[in-house]
Amino acid sequence: MEELLRRSEKLTTVGQLAAGVAHEIRNPLTTLRGFLQLQQEKKILVPLHVELMLSELERINMIVSEFLILAKPQAVHFQLRDVRLILGDVISLLDSQAHLFGIEFEARFSEQPATVHCEENQLKQVFINIVKNAIEAMPDGGTITLEQRIIDGTVVIVISDEGEGVPEEMLPKLGEPFFTNKETGTGLGLMVSQRIIQSHKGSLEIHSEYGSGAQVTIKLPEAGEHTPGQAMNEERSED
Ligand code: ADP
Ligand code: MG
Repeated sequence: MEELLRRSEKLTTVGQLAAGVAHEIRNPLTTLRGFLQLQQEKKILVPLHVELMLSELERINMIVSEFLILAKPQAVHFQLRDVRLILGDVISLLDSQAHLFGIEFEARFSEQPATVHCEENQLKQVFINIVKNAIEAMPDGGTITLEQRIIDGTVVIVISDEGEGVPEEMLPKLGEPFFTNKETGTGLGLMVSQRIIQSHKGSLEIHSEYGSGAQVTIKLPEAGEHTPGQAMNEERSED
C-alpha cells in the first residue's frame, strides 16, 4: 500500500515535470516556427532573426541537457571518490570563466580524505551548478569560498558567494523547476542538484540573507571502509 502510494506520488512528480518541460520547450519552438514561416514567405534571411532562432535553439538544448543529467544511466556506477578531488576539478573547470568576472576561488578542504560513495559525474554536475550560480550572482567580482569538512561521519561542503543573495520571499521558490530570475536561465540547476544529492542520501540547503550573499550547504554520508551495504558499483535501488 505504502509502496503503491509512493509510486503514484512519484508518477505525479514526473508528470508535473514532463508538463513543465513540454511547456518550456514549446515556447522557443513557437518562436522558431514563427521566424521560419516568415522567412519562407519573404524568401530572405534576416540576420537578426537567425540570431534569435539560434538562441531559442540553444535554450531548448540547455533544457534538454539538464534533464538528461537526471535520466538514469543504464548502469549507475556508484564508486568511492574523494570529494576534495572532485571540488578541485570543478575549480579548474570554472577558473577561467570566474576570472573573466574578477572572481577568485578560495578552497579550504580537510586534511584527511573525504571519501563518499557517489556517481562522480552527477556529483561534479551538482558542484558545477552551484558554483555557476555563485559566479552569476557576482557580476562585479569577489570571492567564492569552497569549504569542506568532515563532521561525525558526514562530509560537509559549504559554497559561499559575495553576491546579492536571495530576497526572502524568493527563498521558498528555489529548487522549484523552471524558477529563475535570469534572462537566459532554465531554473533547473537547483532542482536537478537537489535530486542528485537526495539519490546520494545527502542533503542540500541554501541559506541567504538578502544583501549578503548565499551559502549552499551539501551534506553527504562519509564512506568509511566499513560502511555497511556500500559495495563498489552497487546498483542504485531508489532515487
Ligand atoms: P538558473 O541558474 O537557470 O536560474 P537555478 O535552479 O540554478 O536556475 O537557480 C534558480 C534561481 O535561484 C536563480 O535564478 C536565482 O534567482 C536563485 N539563486 C541560485 N543560486 C543563487 C546565488 N548563489 N545567489 C543568488 N541567487 C541564487
Ligand atoms: Mg543555475
